[in-house]
Amino acid sequence: MATLELNNIVKDFAGTQVIKGVDLEVKDREFVVFVGPSGCGKSTLLRMIAGLESVSSGDILIDGQRMNEVGPAERGLSMVFQSYALYPHMTVEDNMGFSLRLAKVPKAERREKVLEAARILQLENLLERKPKALSGGQRQRVAIGRAIVRNPSIFLFDEPLSNLDAALRVQMRIELARLHEELDATMIYVTHDQIEAMTMADKIVVLQGGIVEQVGSPMELYHHPRNRFVAGFIGSPK
Ligand code: ADP
Ligand code: MG
Repeated sequence: MATLELNNIVKDFAGTQVIKGVDLEVKDREFVVFVGPSGCGKSTLLRMIAGLESVSSGDILIDGQRMNEVGPAERGLSMVFQSYALYPHMTVEDNMGFSLRLAKVPKAERREKVLEAARILQLENLLERKPKALSGGQRQRVAIGRAIVRNPSIFLFDEPLSNLDAALRVQMRIELARLHEELDATMIYVTHDQIEAMTMADKIVVLQGGIVEQVGSPMELYHHPRNRFVAGFIGSPK
């Protein structure tokens, strides 16, 4: 079980406020999408949740516990990046198991977890390959596999599909939805693509200029956008 709460989160970079007081509640097993134009603060917010960036003020709570001073490895979450950041000299199996090796998980247990993730992601036949011998979609699956093996209670995705072509993006959207069902995990997904937000989210958080413009289900935002920005961004007729 994993809930997330953000209380009045602010982030300054060298005196410029880029996140301006964000409040948010994410329920257990919810699929939440942060959507907004480039530069609105989506990645910064996600990186603060991950512990890769400090907050200037405000509190981050996971399962009610304050996380501000807790390191990224101890927060019980895994992040998948846009640039897959696979190790080119390692096989798929070693890439997927690498964080477990760092955590000194014994080899047999590591292999079991990697095989389970490979089954879920249909990578079983590619475990001996190096990243350069994989397609873009397969590389992205390995990056997701790396997150799965750590058995996180919260997954964070930062524009994971934006390097893929349109057809593959559609396929990966379906796979991610299936993954959400199968893993029973809380997922926070960042994108600038409103179609991804509308098709994948239980709850959409619309951001602009470091501020939350509106939070709601895809249908709520579509039928009741709070302002012109939300209406325009979501593609609502209003
Ligand atoms: P998004 O992911 O929505 O495109 P970001 O979170 O990357 O937006 O960036 C939000 C704002 O914060 C941008 O104006 C960006 O230039 C600025 N920013 C992000 N990271 C840094 C940093 N390390 N130092 C200074 N400014 C930053
Ligand atoms: Mg970004």
